[in-house]
Amino acid sequence: MPLAYPPFKSCPCGSGHSYAHCCGPAHDGTCPPATPEALMRARYAAYALGNAAFVLKTWHPDHRPTTLHLNDHTRYLCLKVHEASGDEVEFSATLKVAGGEKYVLRERSVFAQLDGQWVYVNDVTPPTLDA
Ligand SMILES: [Zn+2]
Repeated sequence: MPLAYPPFKSCPCGSGHSYAHCCGPAHDGTCPPATPEALMRARYAAYALGNAAFVLKTWHPDHRPTTLHLNDHTRYLCLKVHEASGDEVEFSATLKVAGGEKYVLRERSVFAQLDGQWVYVNDVTPPTLDA
């Protein structure tokens, strides 16, 4: 198992709920995310907690990288969901890299259902959209 995160602490995805009532059940497999937005939040929280296994498991097999190395020096400061409609979610994640530099990653992600569970397909952010 990756990092044990205290269930009573507020969830790393920034929902304001405790981890046990937010992304925790998605991570431990007891309750798969019911919507693309919930999955997007759970994947963000998994990145924040260094849970590469969850990130890979919820990635569409046709698009999934063979390995995923999460940099433990990257800090995940905040997540903002701009729009969630149909199978697409647009969000910004504020990250801080090892050198202390902060940047905002803005992405429009596409999700799909595979065997009844939502998976991340890919990023369809138009290349002209600035971050
Ligand atoms: Zn959460």
